[in-house]
Amino acid sequence: MELNNKKSAILISVGDELLIGQTINTNAAWLGEKLLAFGVEVVEMITVGDDKNQMLRVLHESHQRAELVIITGGLGPTRDDLTALVLGEYFQKNIVFNEEVFSWIKAFKEAQKKPVNELHRKQAYLPEDFTYFKNPAGTAPAMVYRDNGTIFVSLPGVPYEMKALMNEHVFPWISKIVNRKIFLTKTLHTAAVPESEIASILNDFEENLDVGVSLAFLPSLAKVKIRINSRAATEKEAKTALNKAEKEIRKLLGDMIFGENEDTLEEVVGRLLLEKKQSLATAESCTGGYIAQMITSVPGASQYFNGSVVAYSNKVKMDLLNVNKATLEKFGAVSEETVIEMVKGICKSLEVDNAIAVSGIAGPQGGSPEKPVGMVCVAVGNIENQVVDTLYLNHNRKLNIEKSAFLALNMLRLFLQRS
Ligand code: ATP
Ligand code: MG
Repeated sequence: MELNNKKSAILISVGDELLIGQTINTNAAWLGEKLLAFGVEVVEMITVGDDKNQMLRVLHESHQRAELVIITGGLGPTRDDLTALVLGEYFQKNIVFNEEVFSWIKAFKEAQKKPVNELHRKQAYLPEDFTYFKNPAGTAPAMVYRDNGTIFVSLPGVPYEMKALMNEHVFPWISKIVNRKIFLTKTLHTAAVPESEIASILNDFEENLDVGVSLAFLPSLAKVKIRINSRAATEKEAKTALNKAEKEIRKLLGDMIFGENEDTLEEVVGRLLLEKKQSLATAESCTGGYIAQMITSVPGASQYFNGSVVAYSNKVKMDLLNVNKATLEKFGAVSEETVIEMVKGICKSLEVDNAIAVSGIAGPQGGSPEKPVGMVCVAVGNIENQVVDTLYLNHNRKLNIEKSAFLALNMLRLFLQRS
């Protein structure tokens, strides 16, 4: 391998709009993911403004450390687009007009029946000795240059142009010269267990991971993603180590894990219902149909989802779900007794095999000392058997609703898996 001990990539994103939060840096996210799958690890992502001195400084720093430096943005036709000039200055190259690139730009514009103007000409000025690639989706070409064991790649900032150039030209070109490793990842999703608890269950396992394997915990509302990373010289080694780690984690966490990779909880619940050839309905008070919305966001949900009653008032709970007046008076609308009756009631009225029922106080008003804001009663099950729980949530109204819906779906998932 001709390249040296620099073994990683640095991404430099250029643009004032990134710094002020006007544009989200989707280029860096896309490149980070694609490069890892390609076998090159991104170790740093740097964002700088449209500023010559900042750009020169980060070019210099990246040059010392990385085998591959990818710069996006700043190749446009306007005055604030400086990347080609700065690269020329950094490598002490003249900026010269390139006839071939200009012919590409002209052809691109002609195909769009648009005139070529002076500003487009600017995009045909490149640093001397740079290799360039035709942009299939725009006017600015990609430029690449190698110096002292580092490959520099400069790409336009427009995401679809950047991706087209990477896929068509840059990946094939660098594949012959860059050090690649195999990186495999797999993500397992857990529900309803805090990150700290997951981490403590996995603590001993994590301390004795095989070489090349690492774990990352990514928590979000009521769920934790566990990403298993495996890095090795060959696909086979990486795969073996990954599978071994996955097996061990599944053994330790059991049914805390509801899915993997792109799975969502609502899809997993849908698959379980299809397997069992069973149907579902929801009876929702404080979630107002949110659970039904989640379930019906999955294509094909009509095969198992019959419908929902948004039973916001006590009258609807009684009239449509057959909840007893006495239960409401004695225990209140937000009570385990009520949600159990809601499950039974909707199973009967909508003739379904399973139901989810939720009643709670989403906030910010309506709490009391005995029934504080964030108290949510959830029942899942069927006419004969129900599982019930009371959640005490402490978010704002929107998040309380989302979290109750997610946890209610998870309770159904466990009910289906365990019955
Ligand atoms: P072109 O040569 O096609 O004009 P460019 O190299 O000049 O592109 P910029 O002018 O910096 O790129 O940005 C062009 C567009 O791409 C802008 O709308 C900008 O918001 C968007 N963009 C730039 N950088 C990124 C990034 N890192 N992630 C997502 N979008 C970006
Ligand atoms: Mg710009």
